[in-house]
Amino acid sequence: PLTTLQDPSLLKTDALINGQWVAGETRFEVRDPATGRVLAEVPNLGGSEAEAALQAADKAWPAWRAKTAKERGAILMRWYQLLMQNAEDLARIMTAEQGKPLAEARGEVGYGASFIEWFAEEAKRVYGETVPTTDGNKRYLVIKQPIGVCAAITPWNFPIAMITRKVAPALAAGCPVVIKPAEATPLSALAVAELAQRAGMPAGVLNVITADSQRSIEVGKVLCDSDVVRHLSFTGSTEVGRILMKQCAPTIKKLGLELGGNAPFIVFDDADLDSAVEGALASKYRNAGQTCVCANRMYVQDGVYDAFVAKLAERVGQLKVGNGFEPGVQVGPMIEPAAVEKAEAHVADALAKGARLVSGGARVQGLQSNLFYAPTVLADVTGDMLCTREETFGPVAPVQRFATEAEAIALANATEFGLASYFYSRDIGRIFRVGEALEYGMVGINTGIISTAEVPFGGVKQSGLGREGSHHGMDDYIELKYLCLGDI
Ligand code: ADP
Repeated sequence: PLTTLQDPSLLKTDALINGQWVAGETRFEVRDPATGRVLAEVPNLGGSEAEAALQAADKAWPAWRAKTAKERGAILMRWYQLLMQNAEDLARIMTAEQGKPLAEARGEVGYGASFIEWFAEEAKRVYGETVPTTDGNKRYLVIKQPIGVCAAITPWNFPIAMITRKVAPALAAGCPVVIKPAEATPLSALAVAELAQRAGMPAGVLNVITADSQRSIEVGKVLCDSDVVRHLSFTGSTEVGRILMKQCAPTIKKLGLELGGNAPFIVFDDADLDSAVEGALASKYRNAGQTCVCANRMYVQDGVYDAFVAKLAERVGQLKVGNGFEPGVQVGPMIEPAAVEKAEAHVADALAKGARLVSGGARVQGLQSNLFYAPTVLADVTGDMLCTREETFGPVAPVQRFATEAEAIALANATEFGLASYFYSRDIGRIFRVGEALEYGMVGINTGIISTAEVPFGGVKQSGLGREGSHHGMDDYIELKYLCLGDI
């Protein structure tokens, strides 16, 4: 699939340290999950290369922060434009290594690029404050300064957007970054880094360290232990988030964490049912169910329960599963065997505990790899089943019945997670009541798609710390400094 790139030089297979492409001593394979074929080999770097990248970033910091916000913004804006100009190639690289349908990959390139555009603009709006004095001889000022060298560890489910959402605000604020992309999707990261080079990013300001899953742990340790790194941003599992948080304790690093979710999707009796079904499809089956904001549990009120399950099953049965490069495919392969096994285990557990299989429920046979899992709907689900307690991270929709609004809210909030949530209702009072009662960082009301660069993305409880995107998205990368001017 990668022999047809319009610009083959975007397919970078070396890591980027201090503006130099680095081959490393050993390499690891990047595979196409739709076919199992090896796409490329990239450097398997470790602690010493991570150290080198941090030193390069530290050295690049003074000149980068000394640029005016407008100058940094201009480089970011060129980077944004290059992503858009090369969108088709970036989308192909992404579909090849990640598996998502090409249309979704194109969408992600635009979404990922939009963070660069947004923060290129925001760079100029990092305003300080003057504070009314309480002492006639003094004046109080607050200035904002870049926090320092930043590290970003990113996942494979959004190989570009999870990088740009962290890196763009850091760079805009005046911070250099070292990125450790997911081992499954380094090619997207490297292509984006190549475009940053072309946009005029100075050496050392943006570094990419590729490593396999084993060596990622070693690289992660170096990034966490380092005194140079002042902020670590991570998107991934809650489990790894906890490890990183612990590792960052000795150096008291600022942390941005976007961790797991367990999103409830509630449909009330007064919902527009067709719209709820479309929202459920979009939220659940996008990226084969592998997003942290995917609906994980569906709660449907008595009055519309049967109709909802029937309509959802009908629409899910029409979804086209296959290689993301094939026209019309809506659900691609899952990323790795363990991901499919988790979906299988959750379905088996639910069926054993009395759930009813309405659609799917098995791997799709006859395709080029065995990583395709059929879009699945389970009805009559109960709260003791794994699929409602843990994040399935696959194309499985468990549907549970409820009777009252209070019951739905209690079910939705009964989790240690708090990232995204969704509900469908046309009752204005209920919309406010439920919207305010859900213990989540984000609530989609009558929509299954909520992400955009202009709004704060993030979770409460064990779903993470901080917010990405929006005008708040730069706060993490900025320190406030109070200047007290006396002797007036
Ligand atoms: P997912 O469940 O999405 O694969 P993970 O949390 O396992 O999420 O991985 C997300 C990112 O974290 C990847 O880049 C991976 O290499 C990295 N990672 C996983 N474990 C560690 C670790 N112990 N230290 C540092 N990085 C890690």
